[in-house]
Amino acid sequence: MNLNILVLPGDGIGVEVTGEAVRVLREVARAAGHSVRFTEGLIGGVAIKAEGTPFPAKTEKLALAADAVLLGAVGLPEFENAPPELRPERGLLRIRAAMGVFANLRPVRTYKPLLDSSPLKNSVVEGTDMIIVRELTGGIYYGTPRGISGEGAEERAVNTMTYSRAEIERVSRMAFTLARTRRKKVTSVDKSNVLENSQLWRKVVIEVSKDFPDVALDHMLVDNCAMQLVLNPKRFDIVLTENMFGDILSDEGAVLTGSIGMLPSASIGEKRPSGAWTGLYEPVHGSAPDIAGQNKANPLGAIGSVAAMLEYTFGLTNEAAAVNQAIESVLAQGRLTADLKPVGTPATTEQVGAAVRAAIQL
Ligand code: NAD
Repeated sequence: MNLNILVLPGDGIGVEVTGEAVRVLREVARAAGHSVRFTEGLIGGVAIKAEGTPFPAKTEKLALAADAVLLGAVGLPEFENAPPELRPERGLLRIRAAMGVFANLRPVRTYKPLLDSSPLKNSVVEGTDMIIVRELTGGIYYGTPRGISGEGAEERAVNTMTYSRAEIERVSRMAFTLARTRRKKVTSVDKSNVLENSQLWRKVVIEVSKDFPDVALDHMLVDNCAMQLVLNPKRFDIVLTENMFGDILSDEGAVLTGSIGMLPSASIGEKRPSGAWTGLYEPVHGSAPDIAGQNKANPLGAIGSVAAMLEYTFGLTNEAAAVNQAIESVLAQGRLTADLKPVGTPATTEQVGAAVRAAIQL
């Protein structure tokens, strides 16, 4: 297979972690006999400095031409007070919209060697293995009207939570399709006791579920879901939810398993004629200016994102499994960066990357 990948390292530790992820991908491709072509582009703070915008037209063109995009992170302290259009983070919103990636998938699973890094008791968290499927391009983050108007006592702010049937349907279909490759259970999360928006959400999810009779569906109100995620995270397989609820719940999910540096994510769009899903793959963490350039960052979230890319965009499930198994084996060897190893000598970013490459078996 020919893999045509755009790499956008971005800012801070994004550069270090994507460097290791690319080396792992090269190794997998070599071992499995695939040819891989990398192009590189600018996004975030580095793009503002070089081109005056966080998402240059050149980058957009490259992203639309690639099979998949691997992104590091964006954000630099020097842009903290810049206007919204000139903030590195705006680059992320723009690339998601340009690529039409409407579903964000965040796998949350525990690794045995890291159980003690979880804030939850081992007995509660062990065996957790879910994917949070968050709608990414609709809902209250994009709805209009929005804004702040008036002055003094009359000043008011408006945001609009809006979903069309089509938007709910496509992300639901993706969640049910994914469930078929796992434990065949979807939990749809909404606030249908209060919001009309959620009532439509629930209605459409139920309709879509009829095309997937082999997948069990249950519904949960978002406040209860926030509680169940810490009381009994093992009960979840696929969690399907709208944009803002997913934003909040997926960060809650992120801390269940230890370090934020461990977590991959995949943002997926429509299927292409080839049957592959368009995809933007990135670790969940940010640019971590406090440790940037020090060879300290945990690269496993970025490397896990490569596994997700192999699986979802290229359908290379064996290669994806080989990367995930290599990650587990490196954790079992205790080759851990400082975020996972508060005492003793931690491994560097490069050492962890090299250990993953050495552990790949295909
Ligand atoms: P952050 O994720 O960058 O860092 C939070 C904490 O986690 C820091 O202490 C950091 O050192 C640590 N950390 C993060 N990733 C790590 C890794 N791979 N290995 C070891 N430790 C890791 O979040 P923040 O500090 O809130 O934000 C910093 C910048 O990143 C801001 O500009 C923010 O807007 C941006 N940001 C970008 C993204 C993204 O690109 N997707 C996501 C979140 C934040």
